[in-house]
Amino acid sequence: MNNRNVWESANQKKVKQIDTFAKKYIDFISDGKTERECTDLAVNMLEDAGFIELDKAIASNKRLKAGDRVYSVCMNKSVVAFTVGTEPIEHGMNILGAHIDSPRLDIKQNPLYETDKIAYLDTHYYGGVKKYQWVTLPLAIHGVVAKKDGTIVEINIGEDEDDPVFFISDLLIHLASEQLEKKASKVIEGEALDIVVGSMPLNGADEDKKEAVKNNILKLLKMQYDIEEDDFVSAELEVVPAGRAREAGIDKSMVLGYGHDDRVCAYPSLMAMLEVKKPTRTTSLILVDKEEIGSVGATGMRSEFYANSVAELINLINGEYSELMLKRCMAASYMLSSDVCAAFDPSYADKFEKKNASVLGGGMVFSKYTGSRGKSGSNDANAEYIAALRKIFDEKGVIFQTGEIGKVDVGGGGTIAYVLALYGMNVIDCGVAVLNMHAPFEAISKADVYETFEGYKVFLSEMGK
Ligand code: MN
Ligand code: MN
Repeated sequence: MNNRNVWESANQKKVKQIDTFAKKYIDFISDGKTERECTDLAVNMLEDAGFIELDKAIASNKRLKAGDRVYSVCMNKSVVAFTVGTEPIEHGMNILGAHIDSPRLDIKQNPLYETDKIAYLDTHYYGGVKKYQWVTLPLAIHGVVAKKDGTIVEINIGEDEDDPVFFISDLLIHLASEQLEKKASKVIEGEALDIVVGSMPLNGADEDKKEAVKNNILKLLKMQYDIEEDDFVSAELEVVPAGRAREAGIDKSMVLGYGHDDRVCAYPSLMAMLEVKKPTRTTSLILVDKEEIGSVGATGMRSEFYANSVAELINLINGEYSELMLKRCMAASYMLSSDVCAAFDPSYADKFEKKNASVLGGGMVFSKYTGSRGKSGSNDANAEYIAALRKIFDEKGVIFQTGEIGKVDVGGGGTIAYVLALYGMNVIDCGVAVLNMHAPFEAISKADVYETFEGYKVFLSEMGK
């Protein structure tokens, strides 16, 4: 089962398609490094493909029919979309759901300080990170500052060649003998992840000499962005690795980049959604925030936002709405929880159980279950559902493999799968294998992201037909 390789079976034409798709994906993750940026990119692509805003359809009381396409955005951080099928909506939807948040460092609400003539921004990490991986890297700041007058200042520093970058310092090796005795979890602690933002004191006769470096930063922030120190209170600023994703390997078979988890599934989900234009069953896309911290919050999967959107959709299709219709629709739906799996890493082979691990180049990955310590917290997909999926993917020649995140009791993880399963629908985790997941730069195979795109299209158009 897990010994197929996408490259081995690909003809020249397919290799070219893989490469073209990967280049567009590289652009997507280089431009979309935060949930807000991914939402913006997705909305632009959805609108170009003829999707209209759900609120506009509601306002104009537009009756939706087969082939109509709508989308809805929640707080600029998550987006859902639908293409109406020819089958009644109560018969269920085919849903692709991925998350667009990634591990990173968030700037605190009162972050700016100066010590010994160096100015810093204090951060609080978001999601699961090995803290020692984040030092001595070029970092960028992305996000928004919401001001009291209602204006939103968009911040993006560190991506243009002419932009400055930021960094977190580490102790020089010459003095590190004591540090190197520490456990890896203690080498760099959470409160040490403060980014250096300046070292030039403000000069001027009547200026306050105390905190002159910080005051200079504040002056520059006022000049360049018209923001003040208090405005950090109502800001969402995310510190991420600076620079674009890159092709990796002499053979250019891989992509090294920030945030493959989970944009390497979000992107093919979005592209598949755009391409399947006249589905039998209604198709749906979910690109959701907050997965890395437990799917909480209004923009996370556990929010009512998705169900509310489906309720509105039902009303626009049927001209009426009932809770029973919504429940029937949800329970009859099929979902691929489009999320990444750990790729088998030969350098750390003892952490994997090889015959049940997904591999780079092995195609789309199914994870029947995730969780940890005896599948705890796992969705554990239904065998009958997996059989139905195997059938359509085999018929359409999609190369897939199975994946378990690691050896029993070595660790584990979770996804949004269990949240949609609460509605009583069939859900399975299905996505792309990632090497060094949650590192500032993760790696994937170009062949896998393309094969997953092919698989997602087949799922949207064929499942439950
Ligand atoms: Mn994920
Ligand atoms: Mn993750």
